[in-house]
Amino acid sequence: MTLEDDLQGSVARHEIEAYFQPQIDVATGEITAVEALARWRHPVQGLIPPVDFIPIAERTGIIHEIGAFMLEEGVRHAARWRRDGLSIHVSVNVSAVQLATPDVFEQLHALLGEHQLPNGTLTIEITESQVITDLADVATRLHRLRAIGLGVSLDDFGTGHSSLAQIRDLPITELKIDKSLIQENTSNGALIAVAVALLQERGVQVVAEGVETAEHLDLVQRIHCDRAQGYLFGRPVPVDELDPVLAGAQ
Ligand code: C2E
Ligand code: CA
Ligand code: CA
Ligand code: CA
Repeated sequence: MTLEDDLQGSVARHEIEAYFQPQIDVATGEITAVEALARWRHPVQGLIPPVDFIPIAERTGIIHEIGAFMLEEGVRHAARWRRDGLSIHVSVNVSAVQLATPDVFEQLHALLGEHQLPNGTLTIEITESQVITDLADVATRLHRLRAIGLGVSLDDFGTGHSSLAQIRDLPITELKIDKSLIQENTSNGALIAVAVALLQERGVQVVAEGVETAEHLDLVQRIHCDRAQGYLFGRPVPVDELDPVLAGAQ
């Protein structure tokens, strides 16, 4: 049996799990958001990271099941945290393949209605590389997401070849600076600071990824990112582990 065979039906067998990683507000240090990250609990091989199964899922179409499950989990927990009096924004990763089908808009519209999530509570993350290949089509789809009350985040900024000019006209609410940019610019960062300021002027929230050390956080503070995510604040964990942290923090 190959991993590809095993991945078939993995959602129905409850082998896919949503982990959540906290994001802190740089100004206050409080957890104000989380990102949902998929994990596959393989019956024989144990926990498999997304790099090893998301590409297979995208190639085989299984990403539609996995993606729908992750959106459901994201919305479900966002609603639960809200009922518990916590104000937590939830981000969910969506593949280009997923975004190219009308189903995803219908599912999101239904989920938001069912769980009564206020506008802007859920943010969809799409990667920079997915956006650039098909700019006009993607812009249309992002507008649709915005129209149903979702935030739209451009993930992994700095890993592709997109320029600020290219993303300027995209209807994004957030931009995530890739960990490579954060980790390689601790001594400088002047250029990133300019980009951050430009985006913030247009109302775009800027999130720094891969914040592992005090030096990384120092850079993030110097370039005035809005939020930060990384091992310094917490790894992706199951909700059972995150809930006590959230309850203690707010
Ligand atoms: P991503 O969306 O860029 O997610 C951030 C990744 O960076 C996560 O890896 C996270 O665990 C890792 N990370 C967080 N903080 C740090 C840090 O301080 N240092 C370092 N070195 N890494 C950090 P993960 O969970 O293995 O996910 C890898 C990628 O798989 C994600 O990158 C995303 O592109 C994809 N992925 C994960 N879940 C899903 C999903 O539900 N749907 C889709 N389409 N893709 C997903
Ligand atoms: Ca992401
Ligand atoms: Ca990223
Ligand atoms: Ca990535």
